[in-house]
Amino acid sequence: MRVLVVEDEPKMAALVRRGLVEEGHAADVAREGEEALWLAEAHPYDAIVLDVMLPGLSGFETCRRLRNSGVWTPVLMLTARDSVDDRVAGLDAGADDYLTKPFSLAELFARLRALVRRGDVERPTELVVGDVRLDPASRRVWRGSEQVQLSPKEFALLEAFMRRPGQVLSRLQLLEHAWDFAYENRSNVVDVYVRYLRQKLGRDLFETVRGAGYRLAA
Ligand code: CA
Repeated sequence: MRVLVVEDEPKMAALVRRGLVEEGHAADVAREGEEALWLAEAHPYDAIVLDVMLPGLSGFETCRRLRNSGVWTPVLMLTARDSVDDRVAGLDAGADDYLTKPFSLAELFARLRALVRRGDVERPTELVVGDVRLDPASRRVWRGSEQVQLSPKEFALLEAFMRRPGQVLSRLQLLEHAWDFAYENRSNVVDVYVRYLRQKLGRDLFETVRGAGYRLAA
């Protein structure tokens, strides 16, 4: 595999690069985010090792910009501290995995192999269907430029729809994605919540398919 290593500390960058090369891989080093963006857009890397602490653009911002520019190369983030906040921010910025410093090269390689197996399919952090946008991390929803307040259940149901735009979803399918087994009263709860979503987001979005269920207009 060919890996882009984004790290400003020369010793750390050289260590990772040397390890990869000794394993028979190819590795390029970028010392800052801007350079990483340029390289990642110009070359089809199999994976990117991205340090959080960088001069200029942070690792988080670099990752976000990569995803926004359509680069879906798997990203492994390196976090300096054993900080939960850093790991959460990294994953929510579109990273696929993280490793906290100090780490062993054996673990770094194993994580890279696992990431490369998944490939560079699109996996946007936000869901967008038409003019509706849903951010699972911040749990916010917009229709056009207007933010819409949803209850947790309404949010879960909308997310179930947005992960399958244009598909007819039966009431049972919607129940299975947004409600758990502990929920007893399953009779018409989906219809009730679709009505709420229509009131908040617009009737035109949720089509009733007679005898089958509902469809989110794609
Ligand atoms: Ca660094």
